[in-house]
Amino acid sequence: MTLSRGRDVLAIPGPSIVPDRVLNAMHRAAPNIYEGELIDLTASVLADLKRLAGTDGEAVIYIGNGHAAWEASVANILRPGDKALVLATGRFGLGWAAIGRQMGIDIEVMDFGFTGPVDPAQVEARLRADPHHEIRAILSVQTDTASSVRSEIAPIRAAIDAAGHPALLAVDCIASLGCDRFEMDAWGADVMVAACQKGLMTPPGVAFVFFNARAAAAAVDCPSPYWDWKPRTKPDVFYQLFAGTPPTHHLYGLRCALDMILVEEGLEAVWRRHAVHARAVWAAVDAWGAGGAFRLNVADPACRSHAVTTIRVESGDGSRLRRWCSDMAGLTLGIGLSAPGIDPEGLFRIGHMGHLNPHMLLGTLATIEAGLGALGIARGPGAVEAAAQAIVGGGGSAADATSAGLRQVTAARLHG
Ligand SMILES: *Cc1c(COP(=O)(O)O)cnc(C)c1O
Repeated sequence: MTLSRGRDVLAIPGPSIVPDRVLNAMHRAAPNIYEGELIDLTASVLADLKRLAGTDGEAVIYIGNGHAAWEASVANILRPGDKALVLATGRFGLGWAAIGRQMGIDIEVMDFGFTGPVDPAQVEARLRADPHHEIRAILSVQTDTASSVRSEIAPIRAAIDAAGHPALLAVDCIASLGCDRFEMDAWGADVMVAACQKGLMTPPGVAFVFFNARAAAAAVDCPSPYWDWKPRTKPDVFYQLFAGTPPTHHLYGLRCALDMILVEEGLEAVWRRHAVHARAVWAAVDAWGAGGAFRLNVADPACRSHAVTTIRVESGDGSRLRRWCSDMAGLTLGIGLSAPGIDPEGLFRIGHMGHLNPHMLLGTLATIEAGLGALGIARGPGAVEAAAQAIVGGGGSAADATSAGLRQVTAARLHG
């Protein structure tokens, strides 16, 4: 039997839920790619992507996913034989490292484990031990989507500067852009990679690389005409922005998503909403954990992602729970991902990024509660109540609702 006849919900850390408005914006006849609206729209999308990233540098769009952005970044700042330092906090830094290795880069991994962030002091010490500046780039992930560890980026820049080291700092914000605060220029990232299907709420298909003047000056002669970011930033003709046909419908979808984030809600409010939802998830897991094996993978709240939460369970319980939720209740939860020393069967993940409100999130948590009951998995009581309380305490009070309502009225007026 199944009870699942309503709308399915995806609570995984990407791809995330696509707003109907974004889908509708993409549902249109093929546009003219030579002149007119699409050309202007693309310029506005690039400008707003930079606002989202917090940079006055360059933004380029690749048709591809996060792996494409990883490869593009490596191809433009490193050549075979160059040395790069990867700072790993789970699985995704290791993925970037593997791509670099296959591209011939001399990759050194500093692995900070699965439950805590990058330690800038260790990075500084490593760079001080590189007096001839052989390390050309440092690749770091803001949020590791497997562990849900979030690292601070500005202290990594400070560590590089304290060591007097010229290495470029490249940051993977694929799981954090549009979810957790990120300020590329203020925090001193030289390169940043992201993709459209997580915080940007758009179907998978385009990826982004941002870079500043330092990275442009240090760029290598990119051997791949497709990844080469230079013609994409100084195009003589429109198609060079994409090294070929533009991702026409994705551009319309992105335009809509960026309006929702930057104009209607506002980036600060987007970040705040993600923080409130994250705290609701943490409160639920803490309550479950009071009477069972459940616990948050990351102990320190300051080092937890606001977009995804990795939850430790008895080995196998995550899979059983995910199966019950998807078969019985139309809810897809994130699988556990393996990492060195980590049993993926002892984990599952809740994605809470992008297009999400309390009713969707509380529905997810209450569905998990039902699944745990159905499966007889031991847990503490009161998880859903604790999550609801966290939402009230985190900005869901009546006064906050009034000011949010006023903001929406203002946004509606702005849009005529
Ligand atoms: C999702 C993700 C990736 C990989 O993106 P794909 O689109 O699956 O290639 C890389 N890094 C992080 C941090 C991610 O969350």
